[in-house]
Amino acid sequence: MLEKNTLPHIFITTNHSGKMKGMVSINTSTLNNPFCTKQRKNPDIICSSCYAAKFEQYRPNTKETYTKNAEILTTRPLKPHEIPRLNHLYCRFNSYGELHNSIHFKNLVTIAEHNPQTRFALWTKRLNLVTGNIPDNFTIVYSNPHRTNPMTTIPDNADIVFNVINKKNDTEINCQNKCIDCLICYTEKNRIIYESLK
Ligand code: SF4
Repeated sequence: MLEKNTLPHIFITTNHSGKMKGMVSINTSTLNNPFCTKQRKNPDIICSSCYAAKFEQYRPNTKETYTKNAEILTTRPLKPHEIPRLNHLYCRFNSYGELHNSIHFKNLVTIAEHNPQTRFALWTKRLNLVTGNIPDNFTIVYSNPHRTNPMTTIPDNADIVFNVINKKNDTEINCQNKCIDCLICYTEKNRIIYESLK
């Protein structure tokens, strides 16, 4: 009989639907992230309509899983047995949630370093936490919090800017319906992305 692995481990989300169908991701809770809590209170930015917070509020299992991920990823450097080994070509960091602190970012770098065959993309609004040596298989996507003010230059510490813009805007939308059919954010750098506001 197989013994149940009771060691704490990072949960990898593999059952995405919609735009992320076919992709995998590593996430943490947004509800216990003080940065996110503060951002959600600002009606001028996209965080005020955070889908991840709503998703967690209605799905207690997801909230519990992503809270456990946060406990492992944000409180101390990962122990060797906690570093996940992936069997996937692409993985998104923060499909749900945001960087909690610099420990969190460094642990994501560690995961990328131990999985050189996988290309990772991190979505973040916290470029001040992006420091140190970043492996080539790790792309930093700056998630512009302003819906009405698309960015056309890439800020320091980022490789890509991700803008969500109003459909009435004339800018060409280059973010597709499915990441698995596009992969720009995982395979390219120096890109400005425009997604239509849903
Ligand atoms: S640009 Fe492509 S890879 Fe990036 S989020 Fe949009 S669909 Fe996904």
